[in-house]
Amino acid sequence: MSNVLIIGAGGVGNVVVHKCAQDPETFGEITLASKTKTKCDAIAASVKSRTGIDISTAQVDANNPSEVALLIRETEADIVINVALPYQDLSIMDACLATGTAYLDTANYEPPEEAKFEYSWQWAYREEFEKEGITAILGCGFDPGITNAYCAYARDMLFDRIHTIDIVDCNDGDHGLPFATNFNPEINIREVTSNGRYWQNGHWIETRPMEIARSIDFPEVGVRTAYLLYHEEEESLVNNIPGLERIRFWMTFSDEYLTHLRVLQNVGMTSIEPVMVEGHEIVPLRFLKAVLPDPGSLSEGYKGRTSIGCIFEGESEGSIRRRMIYNICDHAHAHAEVGAQAVSYTTGVPAATGAAMFLKGIWKRPGVWNVEEFDPCPFLEEVAQRGLPWHLIDVDATCRGVCP
Ligand code: NDP
Repeated sequence: MSNVLIIGAGGVGNVVVHKCAQDPETFGEITLASKTKTKCDAIAASVKSRTGIDISTAQVDANNPSEVALLIRETEADIVINVALPYQDLSIMDACLATGTAYLDTANYEPPEEAKFEYSWQWAYREEFEKEGITAILGCGFDPGITNAYCAYARDMLFDRIHTIDIVDCNDGDHGLPFATNFNPEINIREVTSNGRYWQNGHWIETRPMEIARSIDFPEVGVRTAYLLYHEEEESLVNNIPGLERIRFWMTFSDEYLTHLRVLQNVGMTSIEPVMVEGHEIVPLRFLKAVLPDPGSLSEGYKGRTSIGCIFEGESEGSIRRRMIYNICDHAHAHAEVGAQAVSYTTGVPAATGAAMFLKGIWKRPGVWNVEEFDPCPFLEEVAQRGLPWHLIDVDATCRGVCP
């Protein structure tokens, strides 16, 4: 049995802690630490009532590597699961290096002052982690995370060569509020207001935000309008799927969400440039986050499902094949099981599973890695057992509406 330190007590942290507690054979002492200890205590109480397992809690400022290192030593953690915010990735990696502890996260490092969505800062740690014999697993949520494992599975098991990948993400749920984001509002809004980008024939092609839309037929949900966004897993997948000609990422948004977002953008509330208000420097997007609902609080009464997957076109045994791997997750089921909505659930389950892969020695490899660089088969098998089963189907030449 091994000890685990989970940092971040938001919607995703809640799921990770519940999922680790459900598997006492793999996860021994579980500690949850975050900026606000009362949030950790509330999650610990929920875990105790659902599983009977005791969780230790602590306050930590994860921007401070020495504080994190001290906590790692105190808890004798074998792995740190970072589900705080992307701004804390590097300070937590520094603490892992200082203590010789494995690291796992679900989102790439972001410099607070600029939206970048790139891995360069974390990939720069590769040599040091390798030299110190420490494993770091990057982007082990759903997308990135499970989508990377679907791509690795298609590469290793389904195709001789993959020509194109379209990652398609639909949240067909309804939380009943006019406007709320399903994960941290600041990161979500930074992501969807950035320029779109996709990769084709060796080049990145940039688009304006929401410039390209398609009617995509999402399995078990139906036809919905999805928009081309840039998503961080594209950066690592172009390196790790040999011969890939194109990769794109598509996500659905409700009309209500888009209307609110347009208004907020037009009045300057989504900006990350600080402004002076009555002598105080305020970042408008941070202020907006403070007045929006906490994503972790949305799960009560949330109806509907998520349908997320990857559509592949490529060569297999001399002919062109088009196939899709996807998962369906029901908001109400996630709420009943762990008190979370499906977006937190689909992120937290793979994070806990990735940590289990490391602790069982299956994904133990010094260095800094993206998910598709590990064997996808044991991960996909376990992620299904832990609540996210996946399905493989053939698709026609339109690739359910996403092609050409
Ligand atoms: P939340 O905002 O709900 O939670 C973030 C948590 O981190 C909060 O508990 C917050 O504490 C804590 N935190 C923030 N700053 C610090 C700090 N300096 N020190 C310690 N703790 C801190 O976000 P989510 O749970 O929705 O998302 C968590 C992560 O998961 C994000 O990085 C997000 O981008 C990622 N994600 C990844 C997905 C994927 O599929 N790969 C999908 C969805 C999310 P407090 O509340 O006290 O401020």
